[in-house]
Amino acid sequence: MSTRSDPHRPSDVDPADYRLVCQFDDHHEDGYAYWLDREMELNEADKFIGHYQGNGYCDVCGTGSRIRYGFIFYHTPSAQTVVVGSECAALLGLSSKDQAEQRKVREAARITAKRDEWLAADADHRLAYDWAKMMVELGQAVPGYRPSDGWRAKFVTGVDRYGYSTEKFVASILRDRERTLERAALDAERKATRCPVIAGDGIEIAGEVLSVKLHESDFGDRIVMTVKDDRGFLVWGSRPAGISSVEVGDRVGLVANVEVSEKDETFGFFKRPRKAAYLDSELSGLSDDEVGEFKRCNGEREGKGLGAEFMHQPETGVVYLSAP
Ligand SMILES: [Zn+2]
Repeated sequence: MSTRSDPHRPSDVDPADYRLVCQFDDHHEDGYAYWLDREMELNEADKFIGHYQGNGYCDVCGTGSRIRYGFIFYHTPSAQTVVVGSECAALLGLSSKDQAEQRKVREAARITAKRDEWLAADADHRLAYDWAKMMVELGQAVPGYRPSDGWRAKFVTGVDRYGYSTEKFVASILRDRERTLERAALDAERKATRCPVIAGDGIEIAGEVLSVKLHESDFGDRIVMTVKDDRGFLVWGSRPAGISSVEVGDRVGLVANVEVSEKDETFGFFKRPRKAAYLDSELSGLSDDEVGEFKRCNGEREGKGLGAEFMHQPETGVVYLSAP
């Protein structure tokens, strides 16, 4: 093989020097040529050089069988036209792709610099970003988590993409951080003082109502409540019949079947509640309706509290507060 001295050797080519001017199918009967450059088309005959002219091989790599589907590039420095096969066309065509890639890298570096500057400008920016990023990463470790979910992810993505965020968004992320940390501390404290659930059928529960909420599910909506049993565990389930006026802070008693949560041995689920009753001395002995009425009256008299005197009229079922 003779030593090449032309500028189109594969090791020497600079994609930036080549411009695609034609694409062709050299089939001898129904071939075609698609020219991207009309002027070049008119002058092409005398510009062919190299291997292709001699044997139909690629002008860059000089090997391969005779090119059928080929590409013609114009080489600016030498004003020569080269014919190449698809592999070498990809090599020469890198020019524009390369430039796009380089632009992307430069743009990413610019955004990163802008982001770092924004993060350094204000301790709150840094705190909010680090917090949101950490929570998103923690979330990603949880099965079923989608990174596109949630506004923490939106915040992080926004800062990464644009190099900054709004002060409003920063403030709301910081509020989220505060609330989440407070809740976690409270949870940890509660868990530390809690005892394992006593599970089984017909368990007697007595304790304080910590929450009463509407629970929505595919099977319908119902009111549920969480009770902290006096022995130090929590149970959760449907608000039983008989204490439909129950509120947070009331002391209640009930008998139910209790199952312990798989995730937390101090948390249980109660089912089939029965014998539900109010245990507060002011409420015990009253019917559910009477308690409801009492609470309505009591609520109207702010500051009187549950210890207020009240009277019950058996004939009408009305409970009212005694005159002060
Ligand atoms: Zn080639």
